[in-house]
Amino acid sequence: MTAPISASCHCGAVRLTLPADAAGVLACHCGDCQKLHGNFNAFLAAPRAAITVEGEEALVWYQSSPDSRRAFCGTCGARVVKELTGAGRWLVSAGLIDGPTGRHILKNLWAQSKPDWYALPEGAP
Ligand SMILES: [Zn+2]
Ligand SMILES: [Zn+2]
Repeated sequence: MTAPISASCHCGAVRLTLPADAAGVLACHCGDCQKLHGNFNAFLAAPRAAITVEGEEALVWYQSSPDSRRAFCGTCGARVVKELTGAGRWLVSAGLIDGPTGRHILKNLWAQSKPDWYALPEGAP
């Protein structure tokens, strides 16, 4: 893939463009993601510096752990991003991507923390 990846929240206040080589889709089943997303967190990852954001002022930040913070859209509540603060890396929710991705879940993270009410997404280690 060579085209940048467009993503937006439900209300459109926040629009992101990710580089074509963003990693993922990755699925995190950890306890923090469960609480914050209401489910596992499927995301694409890229350096913050490689992502352009329109409407960044609409983001509301929450310090979810000592080394990471998360942002949701203050208008529609969409979970937009987890920032790995020290690494300068953004994990952008895969559900925000507009249009087909040509991707699938490549890896399950924190599978041991998965709740008992769903099976791991198939086709990924
Ligand atoms: Zn929004
Ligand atoms: Zn997680």
